Parts: sequence; structure tokens; C-alpha cells
Amino acid sequence: MARSAISFDPSAEREVDLLIAGAGPAGMAAALVASIEGLDVLLCEKSDRVGGTGATSAGTLWIPGNSQSRAAGFNDSGEQADFYLSALIGEATNRELRNAYLLTGPTAIDYLCARSDVQFLPCGKHPDYRSNMPGAAVSGRAIVPEPFDGRLLGADFWRVRPPISEFMLFGGMMVGKADIAPLIGRFDSFANFIYSAKLFARYVADRLRYQRGTRLMMGNALIGRLYYSLQKRKVPILFDAPIGELIGDQSGVKGARLRMDGRDIAVRTRKGVVLATGGYAHNKTLREAFMPHPVPGHSMSCEGNSGDGVQLGLHLGAATSPERCPSGLWSPVSIVPHRDGSKGLFPHLVLDRAKPGLIAVNSAGRRFVNEAASYHDFVLAMFESNNKTTPSIPAWLICDATFLRKYGLGVIYPGHRNPGKFVDNGYVMSARTTQELARKIAVDPEQLERTIARHNGFAETGVDIDFAKGEIELNRFNGDPDHKPNPCIGPAATPPFYALAVWPADIAVSTGLATDADARVLGSDGTPIPGLYACGNDMASVMGGSYPGPGTTLGPAIVFAYRAAMHARGARA
Ligand SMILES: Cc1cc2nc3c(=O)[nH]c(=O)nc-3n(C[C@H](O)[C@H](O)[C@H](O)COP(=O)(O)OP(=O)(O)OC[C@H]3O[C@@H](n4cnc5c(N)ncnc54)[C@H](O)[C@@H]3O)c2cc1C
Repeated sequence: MARSAISFDPSAEREVDLLIAGAGPAGMAAALVASIEGLDVLLCEKSDRVGGTGATSAGTLWIPGNSQSRAAGFNDSGEQADFYLSALIGEATNRELRNAYLLTGPTAIDYLCARSDVQFLPCGKHPDYRSNMPGAAVSGRAIVPEPFDGRLLGADFWRVRPPISEFMLFGGMMVGKADIAPLIGRFDSFANFIYSAKLFARYVADRLRYQRGTRLMMGNALIGRLYYSLQKRKVPILFDAPIGELIGDQSGVKGARLRMDGRDIAVRTRKGVVLATGGYAHNKTLREAFMPHPVPGHSMSCEGNSGDGVQLGLHLGAATSPERCPSGLWSPVSIVPHRDGSKGLFPHLVLDRAKPGLIAVNSAGRRFVNEAASYHDFVLAMFESNNKTTPSIPAWLICDATFLRKYGLGVIYPGHRNPGKFVDNGYVMSARTTQELARKIAVDPEQLERTIARHNGFAETGVDIDFAKGEIELNRFNGDPDHKPNPCIGPAATPPFYALAVWPADIAVSTGLATDADARVLGSDGTPIPGLYACGNDMASVMGGSYPGPGTTLGPAIVFAYRAAMHARGARA
């Protein structure tokens, strides 16, 4: 039985200005801007919740020159970012879209902040992922949503897709980056104790009324804020109502058919249809077609993202882009056994890999990467090592007991009192010696011992002559500033030793429908298909498949959603 947030007569044909398919960050932002601009909007969503992958994300947006960071004293500009992107992906790549993105980014964010409850904070220091390249920034480019009080959504709070369970404490409490240190050190100072006690008290109070904590952070805060703003504007959202077919052809899209309660409902549109169905991550055929081989079997994308938008576009003769580079924005993930027998994925984004005392090895027991590289670059190195030299999927994160206690590893948080439980449930391997550990993970014992000894030598000199770990700002940012001489390199010497398998998983896709700078979908002849827009992961990445910095997909998702809505309204973005 479909549940819709508005009364909807399925037998009547409905006409609106703009139909938006997909209630992730891209679709919700497009619907919000279009509504503010006075359009009659309908948002349809395949599942019974809002948020898509965006709800489970870190919620960071890469918006060069944003005014939130400028107001906080950070100097950055679109020109500097353009310089960086030219170094990273080439001067000419996606020129028209890139100009539009860099020009409109700060405007789109200011627009939302001024006219809705979608509010952002500057991240301050948050280095670009190739922070050694010309034009790269160390601070001022990334923004995050302000935390949001889910209680404001009232009875509709349950509609916000929750974060992955691996990112919540006590089965439902969200924590942000700033909460981690006081929580871990809750008995170290009175201030930390009070801070942690308040968080916990709020969580206990929440659980008396809600299924999880209502203090929403990161991607969940972004979705909570978008949803709240849409509710306030009374924008209708149809749940359990996937878009199934477009009405029209290459000469113009006039609406779409939605599938609701087992029936097809026609929605006619005066201005167009926006495809924001989250990309193709769960479509086997499109994965085979666009992703590097061997095609990774794991995805962090929301389960409903089966390429519906991309396929609807292709059916109408749309082009996809980029044509050559393999698609995917990646993170190494470990596989977490749950008590009920199911399995979760933990993305190793920033918490453990760059800390001193961890190395990553392939099946030969050799390092193949700077472990402190960005999650995307780490996985690209896995593919490269795997396809050119040695099986490296999975790769193994190796550390010792001191590291585990101090920094944690994957879901084993720092200072965990019972790491043995993660050995018992098979999450991590453990052994008294590195040779024994190597045998457990089927790696050459002598080679692993040599690799660790060599790396322990780098810990003394502070210089990783093999992979330059700790040399760029990004590495050091995620390392331990108190560790000397190199915040990212430490010895692995105290038993027991641990090994954790990591696999590549997409957190987003980068191949999608080719569009112009107003997010209008392009036909195979390169001209826009009137009335058809795409944004978010349904739209080909403006970054050409690269990952310049924190917020590489949510930034463009919001900015091109804004541009699509403005174009549909007939305004210049
Ligand atoms: C752990 C993690 C952390 C991340 N952190 C960041 C970050 O900090 N910054 C960043 O830029 N990116 C981040 N990402 C990536 C980011 O979350 C995605 O790129 C982003 O959510 C894509 O937005 P979207 O709106 O295109 O798709 P989604 O957020 O996936 O939403 C798509 C929606 O469309 C719906 N849908 C699917 N098919 C249909 C259909 N036929 N009809 C109607 N609706 C449909 C889905 O149910 C879903 O609700 C992260 C991802 C993960 C997994």
C-alpha cells in the first residue's frame, strides 16, 4: 500500500509545472528552489523515505569561494579552484559546466540559506584531496549543514532515512566529528564529562518517543533541513511512487508516468521533468558498462538507486558522459558482521588510515599505496595494484595493539574495552606475531615481516621513501598532530597484531546523463532535450570522474539542482 504525504487521486490525470523524481539531496533541492520560485511542483520518491544516499553521507559540500567561509576569514575564490581543477582534470574538460558550477556555487548556497531552513557552516580547515597541486586549498572550500533538530518534523521524523548503523552509537545516536574527542575522553576532564552526559541525556529522552536520536548531523541534517523546508512550503511528495516512463520524445518531454499502488499514473508537466534518482549503483548492467573491472561487488549507495533516471534518458536517446574514464567515486570498506547474521559496510574515510602505525598491504604482503591518501585515491591504487601487479582486492589494513587502543580500526572505536569480540565475530584477524598474522590472511610471512620492519624504519626518520605518507596537507590533517616526527607514520611493534580486509565500494557514481550548464539533458547530437533535466548522480559528474575534495558530489548536486529549477522557471541562474 503506497503512502503519500498528500491526498492524490490516482484516477485523475495531474498537471504540474515541474515533476522531480527522487527525494535525495539533488531532487529535494530542485523541488525546494522551484517551489520558492513559484512553480507548481511535485516530488515523487521510489521508497517510503526521503534522503537517499545523501541521508547516510557526511553531508559536506565543496563550494569554492562560499560566503560562509569568507565570513569566517578564509580566503578562496572560484578562480583558484578552477586553477586546481585544470591541474587535476585538464584545462578544457567540462569547461562550460565547470564555469557554471564555480560561478553559481556560492549564489545557490546563499539563496537556500536566505530563503529556507537549509543552513550551512564553514568547515574551516579541510584540505583538498590533492592538496599538493596548484590551486588546491587547505581551508575554506568545504561547508557542512548545521545540525538539525529532527523533533521539528514531528510525526514525519521517521521519513528521514537513518544513517548507516555503523555511524551511530547505542543503535541510534548520531555523533559529529566534534563529538568524537569529548566522548572518547569523557573521563579525562570535567568539561568532557558534562558534554558527553548532555549528549547521552538528550539521546535517552529521544528514545522515549522516537526510534532513534533526533539530533541530526552531517547528511542527515542536510536531509532533515531540506525536508522541513519542503514541508513548510507544502510541497507535495509522493512516496512509494517511482518514475517509470517519460511522456514525450527527443523533441520534448511533456511529463512522466509514475507507478503507484500497482497502477500507472500520468503526470503532465508544463516546464519539465527533473531526473534525480541517484544514479545507477545498483544496476548490474550499467556497473559492467561503466565501472572498472573487476567490477566491485560492494556499493554504499542507497538500495533503490538502480539507474532508473539514466535508463529513462538513454531510452529517449540521451548521451552519457564521460565516455572514456571508468566511473565511480570510491571508498575502501570493511565488512561488519551483525548479530542477526546480516552484514554492514564500514567506509574507511578519515578516521584510521592516516594515523601513525597502520599500513596497507596487498596479497603479496607489500605496501602499494600511501595509506593516508583520500579514500578515492586509496581505492584507485587498489585497482592499479590489482590489475597491474598483484591481487590487491581485498587489501589488508595492518596495525598493532597500541594503534588499536589509541586510534581504533573501522568499527572498533578508540579505547574499546573488548576488541576481542571483533576477533571472535570474524571482523578482524589477530595474532601474537606478524608471521602468524600473515599465515592467517594467506600472505607471505617473511615478506610481511620485511614490509613492517621497513615501515618501522620510516617511523624513526619520519620519511616514507616508498609512498611519501604524511607529506601533503591532506595526510597530516587526518594524522595525529601530536605524533612526531611524522603525524602519519608510527611503528607496529606491540602484540597482538591485527589485520582487517578492505574492499572497494562506490559511494557515488560519476558517469551519468550528459547535460548542459543548466542541467538540461543532451541528446546524442549534443543539443538539449526540451523539458528534461538531470542532477545529482543521474547527471554526469562535472569533475570528469575525479575527486578534488570533500563534497565533490553533494556540491554539484545542489548547485545543478538550483540551476535546473531556475532554468525551468525561466530565470537566469
Ligand atoms: C558514507 C558516505 C558518505 C558520503 N559523504 C559525502 C560527502 O560528505 N559529500 C559528498 O559530496 N558526497 C558524499 N557522499 C556521496 C553522496 O551521498 C551522493 O553522491 C549523493 O547522495 C547523491 O545524491 P542524489 O540526490 O543524486 O542521490 P541519492 O541521495 O541516492 O537519492 C536518490 C533518491 O532517488 C530515489 N529513487 C531511485 N529511483 C527512483 C525512481 N525511479 N523514482 C523516484 N525516486 C527514485 C532513491 O530512493 C533516493 O531516495 C557520501 C556517500 C556515502 C555512502
